[in-house]
Amino acid sequence: MASEAVGALDAQLLDHLRARIGAEGPLTLARYIEEALLHPRFGYYATRDPLGVRGDFVTSPEISQVFGELVGLWCVDTWRRIGAPDPVMLVELGPGRGTMLADALRAARVAPGFAAAARVHLVERSRPLRAMQARTLEAASPVWHDELASVPPGPLLLFANEFLDALPVRQFVRRAGAWHERRVGIGSDGALSFVLDPMPADLILDAHEGAVREMRPGADGLARTVAHRLAAHGGAALFIDYGYFPSACGDTLQAVRRHRSAEILADPGAADLTAHVDFEAFAATATEAGARAWGPVPQGAFLGALGIEARAHKLIAHADDTQALLIRSGCRRLVDPAEMGTLFKALALTAPSAPPPAGFP
Ligand code: SAH
Repeated sequence: MASEAVGALDAQLLDHLRARIGAEGPLTLARYIEEALLHPRFGYYATRDPLGVRGDFVTSPEISQVFGELVGLWCVDTWRRIGAPDPVMLVELGPGRGTMLADALRAARVAPGFAAAARVHLVERSRPLRAMQARTLEAASPVWHDELASVPPGPLLLFANEFLDALPVRQFVRRAGAWHERRVGIGSDGALSFVLDPMPADLILDAHEGAVREMRPGADGLARTVAHRLAAHGGAALFIDYGYFPSACGDTLQAVRRHRSAEILADPGAADLTAHVDFEAFAATATEAGARAWGPVPQGAFLGALGIEARAHKLIAHADDTQALLIRSGCRRLVDPAEMGTLFKALALTAPSAPPPAGFP
């Protein structure tokens, strides 16, 4: 879309947010983020493909094909460990350009019967990205959903890379021994501004003055839905994202535009808004709902255990010098602790009785 057209949509989103705040009072941050990212006409994801060097951010599957290939081999291995069910629901949450699943399906061809058993379901709310996925994944005949709830029941192989971080967070700030929710209102200058809800929230947790605690209602709901499905039909789910374990206080919400950090409230609809994933909270909710949680393990260790070195060498053996350099630097970026190797983590959920999935010692 031309940038002026996108600019006009951003202005409409701002009008829409102002009207909502006028009618309802200051919005929770989660509401604000939801509107900014997912408003069906003006939201960030509704109006663009944000990925890649010319977009706003780059993700692991876009850095190296090895990433999606290893996820594909993980799926095949897990499928065999649970008895090779046919059919199996192969689900990706937030597939972006469809790159990871395309790479995964290509690698999974080593397993006879897997492609025929896999029913591909994509949970994606962005129309422009759905169109890209339709092109990338045409051969797999995917079915799209707005929510996981509408994917048909059955044994589940689910994966999601950088999906949880896009689910809206609420924030609570510690003031004089109580927690107050941070909300988005309109300041005296007419611009969007943060305000603290004067009513204390019923959050029982001690912390120092000024501490910020984040909560992610959408991730809790998702953890429960996945857990119920795994407990009922078996399977496994793999979540890769950046975040922390154990749970902790901290303001991790960030806006990113053109690979640079931006103001959270400055340009709703024009910047990506994400927050770090609280892996302990996510695993605890899934466990309470009947699943077993594995990890999280650092992305570098996870990819190492799945054989990233061997995979890279195999590709390099058939590559020219330039390609070989790109393969090496891409893989290094994925596993290097100073890059994505430690901040990014992998967490798996399975049925309570399932054997450990590969990569989770
Ligand atoms: N997994 C991809 C893309 C990550 S960006 C990759 O690693 O490259 C986040 C993705 O989740 C996008 O496809 C976005 O459109 C989608 N998304 C974000 N919030 C969503 C929601 N609430 N429901 C469904 N899809 C969502």
